[in-house]
Amino acid sequence: MDSASLVIFLPVLLVAVWFAWRYFALRRRVDQYAEALRNQRPGLPADVAGLENLSSAVSSLNTNFAERFSTLDSQNARLATVLEQLTDGVLIADSNGQVQFANPAAQRLFETPHPIGRSVAEVVRNHQLIEAWRRGQSTRETQTESVELPARKQFLQLVVIPDTHEGGSLLVVQDLTRVRRLETVRRDFISNVSHELRTPLASLKALTETLQNGALADPEAGPRFMGRIVTEVDALAQMAQELLDLSRIESGQVELILAPLSPKELLNSAADRMKMQAERAGLKLGVESEDGLPNVRADKSRLEQVLVNMIHNAVKFTRAGGEITLGAKAGGEVIRFAVRDTGAGIPSESLARIFERFYRVDRSRTGAGTGLGLSISKHIVEAHGGRIWAESEEGRGSTFYFEIPLA
Ligand code: ADP
Repeated sequence: MDSASLVIFLPVLLVAVWFAWRYFALRRRVDQYAEALRNQRPGLPADVAGLENLSSAVSSLNTNFAERFSTLDSQNARLATVLEQLTDGVLIADSNGQVQFANPAAQRLFETPHPIGRSVAEVVRNHQLIEAWRRGQSTRETQTESVELPARKQFLQLVVIPDTHEGGSLLVVQDLTRVRRLETVRRDFISNVSHELRTPLASLKALTETLQNGALADPEAGPRFMGRIVTEVDALAQMAQELLDLSRIESGQVELILAPLSPKELLNSAADRMKMQAERAGLKLGVESEDGLPNVRADKSRLEQVLVNMIHNAVKFTRAGGEITLGAKAGGEVIRFAVRDTGAGIPSESLARIFERFYRVDRSRTGAGTGLGLSISKHIVEAHGGRIWAESEEGRGSTFYFEIPLA
């Protein structure tokens, strides 16, 4: 090579070598950078020489992803809390029917502490509910099924929502026991009220028809039938009043006017009101109470209503010659009031039920009475922060107790 060619060739060679060197250096940095990204090494260089654009794009992508992940994390945490606190059970099953997720409510409602990985059939353990899930799997349509579990006294409703993408399903189970119970109470209440209305209305109709058919002119039968009409109307009015009372108390519309009240004064006042009625029934009504009892904090007229109702019952269910005794005793933070009679008594299986609305031990024995008095009393006593109960021996008599906190 002559010197002229050398002069041309050498710079070209140098430039080529320089480009090649830059190229390989860049490649090495790109490889290192890619490796760092792959390993998600913390502290990724924010700026890489020669790759500033790429590095800033990646770093903004990185920030973007970090923000999204943090949003997703907090959304996940919120969702997990909701699922954990939910009173409805939630199960997620895959296409093979294997449980992938179950919230605590689902574990509780299906009484299965470790449902993950088990089959839906193993967890649900009720053929009607399993069938509903199977129907959902085959039709891919939402299914709703309700079952009563008598052994557990529970009423469950299951909604199966098939997942259209993955072939699995979401199962939501609700405990409708309380709703059903309230529904039954409501239905019973309406049927009881209608029944209680029908009986006096039927006798009123019969009495007025008899009067229309000539008894009105009869000097003996006329006034007698009129008297019975008045009694029936009074009973209806009392029932209307008691129903109103009960509904007001139950819905919290009755405000108690609480003030210090002497237990003895309360007993005497109730006894005075009922003395005549007891005497007319041939019963002795007495008050046995220690002197110097501390005051209770109570609404006098409401507590007197409770005592009067108890004495009224005692009069109704005690034969002439019997005794009714009112008493009060101090016991810790409360005064325990008692109304004792020597009457018919209450069978033990009915003792817990007599405080229910309309419950009467023996309808034929009761005569006039709505079965509402004790349930009203229970509400009044509980509104005072006290408790009420009864003890009894059939044929020997009953004692009704209630406790009221001290003033
Ligand atoms: P009512 O007296 O209007 O029927 P209550 O709610 O006051 O309604 O009483 C419910 C039922 O409890 C009565 O029907 C009766 O069967 C029973 N009972 C209440 N008090 C007595 C008592 N002192 N002796 C016997 N049975 C009673």
